[in-house]
Amino acid sequence: MSSIQLPGINGTPIHVFGRLAWSRANSIPVMVTCGMCQEPFDVEEARDEYQSEFGEGVDYGEQYGGGACADCAISDTNSNYNTGLAIVMMNGDADYDDEHVQNYL
Ligand SMILES: [Zn+2]
Repeated sequence: MSSIQLPGINGTPIHVFGRLAWSRANSIPVMVTCGMCQEPFDVEEARDEYQSEFGEGVDYGEQYGGGACADCAISDTNSNYNTGLAIVMMNGDADYDDEHVQNYL
């Protein structure tokens, strides 16, 4: 039976190191580059921010698939929504707001 106990290489420190390495690996954000502003961002954070802005009506994954940061995705969705609303106003299907139409068409 071996009686060698090297400080730092016996079971406990390795085990502790292993747990630290494991927990860090699981908390490192997945950083990807935004396809719109080229800034790195964390997909899970962007999804949370996007969903808390728009709720269940629109889905970040479906709309952007992790390819746009929260700021870009939110402003893109707002601009799509406002453009769509302006078209609906032009068609007479919503109360016409000239300022809105001027801004978004
Ligand atoms: Zn962006």
